[in-house]
Amino acid sequence: MSRHPLVAANWKMNHLRADAVDCCRALKQALAERPAPARVAIFPSFPLIPVVAAELAGSELAVGGQDLHPDDKGAHTGDVSGAQLADAGCAWVLCGHSERRQDHGEDDALVARKVAAAVRHRLAPLICVGETRDERREGRTFGVLERQLRSAVTAVASAAGPFALAYEPVWAIGTGETATPETAQEVHAFLRLLLGELVEGAAAALPILYGGSATPENAAGLFAQPDVDGFLVGGASLDPQKFLAIIRHSG
Ligand code: PEP
Repeated sequence: MSRHPLVAANWKMNHLRADAVDCCRALKQALAERPAPARVAIFPSFPLIPVVAAELAGSELAVGGQDLHPDDKGAHTGDVSGAQLADAGCAWVLCGHSERRQDHGEDDALVARKVAAAVRHRLAPLICVGETRDERREGRTFGVLERQLRSAVTAVASAAGPFALAYEPVWAIGTGETATPETAQEVHAFLRLLLGELVEGAAAALPILYGGSATPENAAGLFAQPDVDGFLVGGASLDPQKFLAIIRHSG
C-alpha cells in the first residue's frame, strides 16, 4: 500500500496574527496554483488557531494544536482540551513533542493519556518520538524509541484513526544538524516494523515523518528514503517559501 505523504509546520511560539494570515495566504495560493501530492497541516500556537482555521477553511490544508490536556475539561489553568481544539477547527494535535517532554516534564505515561484524549475527540495525533544526543552516544537510541512508541500507541486501536508518527531526534531539533538520510531510514524502518507489531494495519499505512532541521536543501535526500513519508518542520516552516520548497520535495 502506498502511503500519503504529510508535511506539517510546527510554528511553536512564533508569529502574530498578521504573520499567520500572510503565511496561510501564501501557502494556499501557491498550492491552489500548483497542487502538491503531500497533505499539509499547520500547527500554530493556541491564540492563532482560529485565525489559521478561518484562513484555511475550504482549502486542503489542515490545522492542528501543538498540545492538549489529557482531561476533557475542568480546573486546569492554562491548558487546552481536545474538545476545545476540535471545536476551534483542528483536525490534528501534536503529542509528545520533545520540547513538551523537556520543558514541561511530560513523560511517556502522560503522552499516552494525551494520545487517548486526542482519539476521544477525533483529533489525529501526530506522535513525536526521538532520542537525545546522550542516548544516541550511549547506544540507547532504539531502546528509547521503542519505549516511547510502545507507550504512546496504547490508546490507538487501528491505523484507520488516522494518526501519524514523527521521528524527531532531539539533537537535530533547531540545531541545524540533520540526521543523514541513512540514519533517518534506519530509524524509520525500525519504527515501522515495531508499529506493525503494535497497531493493526499501521506498518503499511502510517506516515512516518522526519523532523529535525529539515530544510529545502536536505528534504529531497531524506524523502528519497523508502520509509520517510514527509516532514515535521519547525524553523523552516516560518518562511512560507522554504516550507513550500519542502512540500514540493515531498511527493
Ligand atoms: C520541531 O520542533 O518539530 C522541529 C522539527 O524543529 P526544527 O525544524 O526547527 O528543527
